[in-house]
Amino acid sequence: MRADIQDRLQRAREATARAGADGLLVAGAADVFYLSAFTGDAGLLLIEPSKVTLFTDGRFATQAKAETPQSKLKLIRGSLSVGVGQHLSAGRHKVAYSPSQLNLASWQALRRAAGPRVRWRAAEGLVAGLRARKTPAEVDTIREAGRIACEVMEEVIGMIRPGLAELDLAAEIGYRLRRKGASGESFEAIVAAGPRSALPHARPTSRRIGKNELVVLDLGAILRRYCSDITRTVFVGRAPTRLRRWYQAVQEAQAAARECVGPGVAAGDVDAAARRALDKHRLGRYFVHSTGHGLGLEVHEEPRLARGQERRLESGMVVTIEPGVYVEGTGGIRIEDDVLVTANGSELLTRLGRDLLEL
Ligand code: ZN
Ligand code: ZN
Repeated sequence: MRADIQDRLQRAREATARAGADGLLVAGAADVFYLSAFTGDAGLLLIEPSKVTLFTDGRFATQAKAETPQSKLKLIRGSLSVGVGQHLSAGRHKVAYSPSQLNLASWQALRRAAGPRVRWRAAEGLVAGLRARKTPAEVDTIREAGRIACEVMEEVIGMIRPGLAELDLAAEIGYRLRRKGASGESFEAIVAAGPRSALPHARPTSRRIGKNELVVLDLGAILRRYCSDITRTVFVGRAPTRLRRWYQAVQEAQAAARECVGPGVAAGDVDAAARRALDKHRLGRYFVHSTGHGLGLEVHEEPRLARGQERRLESGMVVTIEPGVYVEGTGGIRIEDDVLVTANGSELLTRLGRDLLEL
């Protein structure tokens, strides 16, 4: 871990220099962890050419010392932004930062405290860009998180029966993920039955699963802070021909996108492969989100597999492939897997059958 952090800091300093700055202010929790191993909820990290400073408050003093021996520790009373600003105000700095990681109040406090001698360089997603390529150790953790998610998916699919509430199943998911070693869920699990399956981001409700309904299950495990993310759709009863056709179309779209994944491929081309397959079945207009997203310390990170994305995939990236169709009033179908980009293609990290299950 220590060696990883040193390597990451080096790459962050190089990217900071390319952004025309000599300092980098890191505010997002995942970015702070990536560059310091600090896991507290309140922390700002300042990376300068020859030192790294972690700004946090007294609640995290013990933890910060243990987790981040490579950083200087500054315990701040009150606003961390003001603390960082005051620290910077003593010298002349050009500091890069990601605007999306600071809210307006923090940004204003930071600038005011830093004063006019500090020059700010907006460098959106600078650390997110570094995080996109995973080391073999990071991949191993995501693979393990994927395995836990698959096991839980299989178990809870086995529990589905008419009369069970979406929330009951969601509770089982959370419990079983933790029993298998996850520290939590990558996101609040989606359990969406019947017409509610047409909502891509449905939250589970007390609605009971009925006969002859689609059920979409989307869940993920957090293991040592890394996320997995998997979706399966099942049918309670015997699926009508129309839904079988939709299911097969989504399956084809998912396979087409997975086969497209490889180093050097534009992220938008993977998205286009899924769309083409659904268009062939005249279902393209029911696919209302993008094909996938990067996966790592956050459940949605770089790269985005969306229309027109020109960023090229690189070995070490981990992405989801999750096309779906959503028809208001009827239901939705989504199939999602996690895929690693390798030197010569891809490796599936979530190994679980995807044929239509009729329960
Ligand atoms: Zn998902
Ligand atoms: Zn996803």
